[in-house]
Amino acid sequence: MSDQERLRSAVRDVPDFPKPGIIFKDITPILADRALFSLALDQLVESVDSAQVDKIVGIDARGFIFGAAVADRLNAGFIPMRKKGKLPHQTESCAYSLEYGDATIEVHRDAFAPGEKLFLVDDLLATGGTAGAAVELIEKLGGNLIAVSFLIELTFLKGREKLDPAVPIHAIIQY
Ligand code: AMP
Repeated sequence: MSDQERLRSAVRDVPDFPKPGIIFKDITPILADRALFSLALDQLVESVDSAQVDKIVGIDARGFIFGAAVADRLNAGFIPMRKKGKLPHQTESCAYSLEYGDATIEVHRDAFAPGEKLFLVDDLLATGGTAGAAVELIEKLGGNLIAVSFLIELTFLKGREKLDPAVPIHAIIQY
């Protein structure tokens, strides 16, 4: 079995969560297995030119789990992009809709300096609303986004189309 297939077979489908009609891709079985978690991190690290990265941006909340671990592996800093009202200092925010609702994400205005090379990580790309808002925030604050990687992409929702075509997008597992 390929590494991708091993990861894919560990993802658990949970029908009708958090709303009827949504098939939730539960990645907790990957997190709970040391070999699979390590494999997922290997794949995320390999998806970027590591010499290029100053800081990882992770999206609330599962993007924190993968993003922070990738940051440690790349000896890079980590920036949390959080749901509205959680960050204590001055923030920039962006409202968006996702596969199952609406939300606003925020980042500290001083989280990175203009031109710093950023690598955006999240667990899953669905409609692209969340990642699109994250990219918009990074670009608004003058960050140099060098790549975006996801563990999972739901290709049928065409989320890639919402992201900046100039930035390389990578997904380890696709459905
Ligand atoms: P979207 O903005 O539609 O691309 O949704 C992406 C965000 O919502 C990611 O941060 C995911 O964690 C979460 N998400 C959306 N759809 C699903 C799904 N089917 N299974 C698990 N997480 C999802």
